[in-house]
Amino acid sequence: MSGFRNVRKVPAVLRHTEYYDMPQGEMKMEKIRMKTPLVEMDGDEMTRIIWKMIKEDLLLPFIDLKTEYYDLGLPCRDETDDRITMEAAEATRRLGVAVKCATITPNAARVEEYHLHGLYKSPNATIRAALDGTVFRAPILVNGIEPYVRTWKKPIVMARHAYGDVYKNTEYRVEGPGKAELVFTDAEGRETRRTIHSFEGPGIVQGIHNTDASIEGFARACFSFALSQKMDLWFSTKDTISKTYDGNFKQIFQELYDKEYKEQFEKAGLEYFYTLIDDAVARVIRSEGGFVWALKNYDGDVMSDMMATSFGSLAMMTSVLVSPDGIYEYEAAHGTVQRHYYKHLRGEKTSTNSVATIFAWSGALRKRGELDETPELCRFADCLEEAAIETIESGQMTGDLALITTLENVETLDTESFILAVRDRLVRKLEA
Ligand code: NAP
Ligand code: MG
Repeated sequence: MSGFRNVRKVPAVLRHTEYYDMPQGEMKMEKIRMKTPLVEMDGDEMTRIIWKMIKEDLLLPFIDLKTEYYDLGLPCRDETDDRITMEAAEATRRLGVAVKCATITPNAARVEEYHLHGLYKSPNATIRAALDGTVFRAPILVNGIEPYVRTWKKPIVMARHAYGDVYKNTEYRVEGPGKAELVFTDAEGRETRRTIHSFEGPGIVQGIHNTDASIEGFARACFSFALSQKMDLWFSTKDTISKTYDGNFKQIFQELYDKEYKEQFEKAGLEYFYTLIDDAVARVIRSEGGFVWALKNYDGDVMSDMMATSFGSLAMMTSVLVSPDGIYEYEAAHGTVQRHYYKHLRGEKTSTNSVATIFAWSGALRKRGELDETPELCRFADCLEEAAIETIESGQMTGDLALITTLENVETLDTESFILAVRDRLVRKLEA
């Protein structure tokens, strides 16, 4: 490919439109074609600014980009009483691959700031529920940004079950002596009772649940994701203590593996490995990485923040939501970087890291390319990721990385200069 170097300004992104196609106009080169549109979910604050830059500088000049656009920015969610989020989830179900910008989850302060009509749910929670998806988080490894754990050479992908347990609990403060019981009433009205504890003084009680259907969906997403990434799968719970509850997780995973996945894993030379969570944490630290680590909801919540930090930076963590039937939604793991946005609004230069958002796009484009059998699109995704990584490895990076890099002669770039530096490398790669 050649001739991209001539391309400079491209029209601004259209808002509130369903489809748009870039005019070929002055392009000398044919742009890479897409067969099926991606679902594009725009977002808020600094990541919305980055989103537009990525499209204008890194995508539209090279790809005949087809997207079905949904504006999940808070003003539009408010205008549509959050229907736009459900519509985006439905579109994802229909088209199979989506890419999402970070969005604000409103709290009281945001209701005031944006004069909202309601306290809308987190868009991620809405989409996750609509797709019954599992979230996989993977670090982007770069020479010069070293993991705190010296043995880690390859990424460790975290898979967190996103339903139930303590996130849907019923809890109770006990004020004095008495008996706490678990009571289950079946459809015929028959009761099963277990004593939780006979209290002699004040204390606390908690009831939690999960369902076989949700656990099986989680297991299915983990097995198919591990296969698609050609990575081993580890799963860990505390089934020695919680023999029925955590034991149920372990059993569902094992049965599904034996029944549906064992053959495929063996054929691919991959391993499914169950171990107790205490054993797992010790092994993870000693490992060189290169596997998917599946965890229950709370374990995954806590461990994924620890892993993100241990790998170097939250700004270098990608996230993909996978449904049991193989629908994919890609995004960055970080939020809307509010503090940088206010700086941007004051007209000050920002140095916000766009790498995880770039990888959300490359992940979605590559998946679309695989499904549509358009290898040029997959190659573009590879080139884009390589260009981003090599830019950092050459010493050009944003401020967050400059603070932690082991490289010398670092050039700290502002938000847009970093994206333009990636573009220069991308152009050279595409022309090669
Ligand atoms: P955040 O946006 O992840 O940012 C927290 C801090 O981490 C930033 O202030 C910045 O530190 C650093 N950081 C994160 N991403 C960075 C990047 N790409 N480049 C450079 N530095 C980066 O979290 P937050 O400020 O707590 O949340 C802001 C909003 O995001 C909230 O409204 C929340 O609801 C939303 N959120 C959305 C998602 C999602 O859509 N997936 C996820 C999480 C949070 P410094 O300020 O020290 O530079
Ligand atoms: Mg957390």
